[in-house]
Amino acid sequence: YNVSDMKIITVIGSGLIGRSWAMLFVSGGYNVKIYDNQPGQSTKFLSLRKQLVELEEAHMLRGELSAAQQLALLSSYDDLSQALDGAFFVQECVFEQLEVKQSIFHDMERFVGKDVILSSSTSCLVPSKVFSKVQNRSRCLVSHPVNPPYYVKLVELVPHPETAAAVMDTTHALMTKVGQAPVLLKKEIDGFALNRVQAAIIAESWRLVQDGVISVKDIDLVMSEGLGMRYAFIGPMETMHLNAPKGLEDYMSRYSENITRILSSFGPVPDFCGEAAKSVINVSVMVTELPCSVLIKCHLSPQRAIQYSI
Ligand code: NAD
Repeated sequence: YNVSDMKIITVIGSGLIGRSWAMLFVSGGYNVKIYDNQPGQSTKFLSLRKQLVELEEAHMLRGELSAAQQLALLSSYDDLSQALDGAFFVQECVFEQLEVKQSIFHDMERFVGKDVILSSSTSCLVPSKVFSKVQNRSRCLVSHPVNPPYYVKLVELVPHPETAAAVMDTTHALMTKVGQAPVLLKKEIDGFALNRVQAAIIAESWRLVQDGVISVKDIDLVMSEGLGMRYAFIGPMETMHLNAPKGLEDYMSRYSENITRILSSFGPVPDFCGEAAKSVINVSVMVTELPCSVLIKCHLSPQRAIQYSI
């Protein structure tokens, strides 16, 4: 594959994530064909057009093409086979329900050649489940975006156990070409990388509040005024490497005993929904104010921004 020679990408599902992928792919000069099986497709399509024009006016449009040029690359279909015709890459963005995903991939396979890459946006389902009804699984992978993908560049590429290396490489090249920051997982795992790290942070933050060690407001400050400042620019590995005069090995020889002791004091998975969780949840609702920067930066509706911030 050479992603510069390929021209057509199909996006399946025109919800929040499908529309965002469509905007990204047209920003890279690809023809994007969108398919959705629910009524209201044309309204969603119009909102996409409006968004691209607004982004151009705000000088925030991605890619080299004008909004008019990007709009000319977009088309919308009610028929799955027409939507898939000519595509080299398919990005699925339907509801996060295993049966819905399994069945749409099964349907798709009837209409595409064996080399067409089938990619899923799933947040929480592992590839071996999503693609269990696909015959040729060597062309399947998960490309997990972070919401909103137009502004957050990370994409986790997660292989099925049978995925061909060339499929991972092509998808990596495609994501890079449209300006995203792809990372490769070498094998599938529940939660992929981002959600596993996020779950660890959530668990410990929750536990510290629930155990009466710190307030909700202050644990958020630990992230927004401390760790987050650092991690917005460099990752945990690089941070450790820079935090000891002789690098990572030196860092571990100094601090690994502390880290191991702290880690072994972590308890089991906290109670997130039961009686014990009420103390955390009731306080959070009182102190949480939606920062208006989220609204401005993400161009989201207040409804979406609230969901995003949660
Ligand atoms: P959404 O509900 O906004 O959109 C889903 C769209 O899929 C709807 O337009 C619906 O009509 C369409 N659809 C449903 N079944 C279909 C079918 N069989 N054929 C064609 N279209 C169908 O959902 P979303 O937030 O855009 O999420 C889509 C996927 O992206 C999910 O797998 C989700 O886990 C993943 N994802 C979401 C986020 C997020 O924060 N929203 C982040 C990363 C990944």
